[in-house]
Amino acid sequence: MSEPLPTPVPEVTPETAAFWSATADGTLLLPRCERCDTVIWYPRSFCPACGSLETTWFPASGLGSVYSFTIIRRGAAPYDRSVPYIVAYVELAEGPRVLTNVVECEPDEVEVGMAVEVVFHDTGEGPALYRFRPLRR
Ligand SMILES: [Zn+2]
Repeated sequence: MSEPLPTPVPEVTPETAAFWSATADGTLLLPRCERCDTVIWYPRSFCPACGSLETTWFPASGLGSVYSFTIIRRGAAPYDRSVPYIVAYVELAEGPRVLTNVVECEPDEVEVGMAVEVVFHDTGEGPALYRFRPLRR
């Protein structure tokens, strides 16, 4: 029986403080460029598409789909106790593709295009980690 994935505390920087603060409240907050409307990932204080510094935060839907994935069967510590587990790129409904884990899903059940929703795993120190599980209707 494998253990749940570890929940290491993320490094919070001034640029990502609002993002991580929102995860503690169960919200996936994304920055959007005010000039060209690009939804920015990873969170940062400028737009990688046009260079604008005019960005604003908005709450994302938390919905997406599996763009690509792999099954990890031999992890490095401390993840070795959680194998097998799923590492995936999830394409958010808002556009960005996010490297993450798919949880609450058997490795042989994950597939490209699968609808997923965000879940937050508490780190115990404020920020929560964003992961995704199969969407339940
Ligand atoms: Zn822009």
